[in-house]
Amino acid sequence: MITGKNFIGNKLSAKGTDTHKTFNPKLNVENSFDFHAATLEEVDEAVQLASQAFKEYRKISGKKRSEFLNAIADEILALGDELVQTYMSESGLPEGRAIGERGRTIFQLQSFANLVASENWKQNTIDEAIPNRLPIPKDDIRKTSIPLGPVVVFAASNFPLAFSTAGGDTASALASGCPVIVKSHSMHSGTGELVASAIIKAAEKTGMPNGVFSNITGSGRIVGVALVKHPKVKAVGFTGSISGGRALFDIAAKRPEPIPVFAEMGSINPVIITENSIAKKSAEIASTYAGSITMGTGQFCTNPGLILTIENENTNEFIKDLAEKATAIAPQCMLHPNIKRDFVSNGASVSSQSGVEVVAVIEEEIEANFAPTQVSTVSGTDFLTNPKMHQEVFGPFSLVVRCKNEAQLVEVIEGLEGQLTGTILAEEEDYANLSEIVDALQNRVGRIIFNGVPTGVEVCESMTHGGPYPASSDSRFTAVGVGAIKRWVRPFSFQDFPKELLPQSLI
Ligand code: NAP
Repeated sequence: MITGKNFIGNKLSAKGTDTHKTFNPKLNVENSFDFHAATLEEVDEAVQLASQAFKEYRKISGKKRSEFLNAIADEILALGDELVQTYMSESGLPEGRAIGERGRTIFQLQSFANLVASENWKQNTIDEAIPNRLPIPKDDIRKTSIPLGPVVVFAASNFPLAFSTAGGDTASALASGCPVIVKSHSMHSGTGELVASAIIKAAEKTGMPNGVFSNITGSGRIVGVALVKHPKVKAVGFTGSISGGRALFDIAAKRPEPIPVFAEMGSINPVIITENSIAKKSAEIASTYAGSITMGTGQFCTNPGLILTIENENTNEFIKDLAEKATAIAPQCMLHPNIKRDFVSNGASVSSQSGVEVVAVIEEEIEANFAPTQVSTVSGTDFLTNPKMHQEVFGPFSLVVRCKNEAQLVEVIEGLEGQLTGTILAEEEDYANLSEIVDALQNRVGRIIFNGVPTGVEVCESMTHGGPYPASSDSRFTAVGVGAIKRWVRPFSFQDFPKELLPQSLI
C-alpha cells in the first residue's frame, strides 16, 4: 500500500510539509498520492541508523546476506499487480516492459545472492610468512575485500525498477555488506515506496539490523545533496543526467573526506557501418536500427544516437530508408512531460546546427507526452567542428554522419567524449581492415558490439556497463553484472594475525 511517507529504517515517517505527486504521462494527469519530502532531520536519522546498522551488517555472513537478497526478490514478486499498475501509471511504459523489468530486477538480486553465498568474489589472497628469508624475514600477509560503509543510491528515471530502489546499485551494495539509503526518483515515488516496503519486509524476515535500508523522498538539490554531504555516507551510486551526476561528484569531492561517486550518465553510443555492410544489408540494417532507435521511446542509456558511415553511392538511400522506417513506427509515450520537453529542445538544438539536415521527423499531431521520432544527417567535416552535435538527445533520435573516408571516420571517433558502447556493423571482407576503428573505439567506449545493436544490456559476469567520462564517472567499474559489487568495497590486508583472529575465509 502506498502511504506517501519515507522509510527511515523500518519506520514510516512524514515529518515534512513539502509534498509532490507523480505524473501519468499516458493520461496526461497527476496521480493521486502526495509524497512527503524528507526533512533534513529525517535525512540525518536515516544516515545515523545506516551507520549504526553497518557495525552489525558488515559482519553478517555472505550466506545470510544472500538470504536477505533472495527474500527481497520474493517480496517484490509478492507485490503483484499493484507494483505493475503503479509502475505503468508513473512511467507511461507498457505492461510487458513492467513485467520484464521486474524479472530483470529479481534476476539481479538473485545473481548477487548467488555471488555472496560463497567468499570467492572477495578475491582473497594469502602470502605466507617466510621467517628464515634473508636478508629479512617475510611477514604473513592476507588480503580480502571489506565494505565501505553506508551507500546513497540515486534511483534512475528510465528504469523505475532495474536501476532504482532495488536495482543494480542497491543489490550490489547490499551484497557487499553496505547499508543503502535510496534517494527515490520523484517521477516514480509510488513504485519506489512499494519496492522499499518489500526490502524492509525482507530485512525484517531475515533478521537484518534496522537501518540496513532507508528510502528518502524529496528534491535532489536538498535531500540528495544533504545525503551526499553527510559525513557518515561513504559512497554514492547514480544514474541520470551529466549535469546531475557531475554536480553530485563535485560535492562529494569537496567534502572534508571525499568519497567515490559511481555515476552512469550520458552516452550517444556511436554505431559504425562499413561500406560493405551498407552495400549488402542496407534494408536489413535500416529496419533493425529503426527498432533500436525507437525501442523504449529511445529512453535507454545505450540508445544509438550517432551513426557513422562513409559516404558513397549507397549512403543517401540508406539514410532515407532508416529515417522513413524509424518514423513509420508508431510514436510512444515518454516518461514525463519534462523528459519530452528536453527531448524536443535538445533535438531542435542539434538539428538547427549549420549543415544538419532533418531527414524525417514525425510531424503529425501526436498525444501530449508522446515522442516525435527524428533522424537527421550531417557531413563528417561539419560534425568534427561542432561539439553541439555531440550532445545526447535522450529519446528516439539519431544523427547519421557521412564521413568522406575512413581516416575521417576514425578522426570522428577519436573526437567523441567517453561512451558506454560502440557498435561495428561489418562484413567478413572488412575484418582485415578494422583494427584502426577498433583501436579508436576501444579508447572511447566501455563495450564494443559486433553486428548487433547497443540497446539491451545482458546481466552477466562479463558485462561492462560503464565507460570513459562522461559515460561514467569511473571507467574502471561496471554498473551492470556481478562485477558491480567491486564499487562498494576496498582492499584490506591482515599482517601477522593469529589464526584465531582472522576471518574464516583467510585461514
Ligand atoms: P537527473 O535530472 O539527473 O535526475 C536524477 C536524480 O538526480 C534525481 O533524483 C534528481 O533529483 C537528482 N539530481 C539531479 N540534479 C541534481 C543536482 N544538481 N543536485 C542534486 N541532485 C540532483 O536525471 P533524470 O531525472 O533521470 O532525467 C533527466 C535527463 O537525464 C534526461 O532527459 C536525460 O537527458 C538524462 N538521463 C540519461 C540517462 C542515461 O542513462 N544516459 C538516464 C536517465 C536520464 P530530483 O528528483 O530533485 O530531480
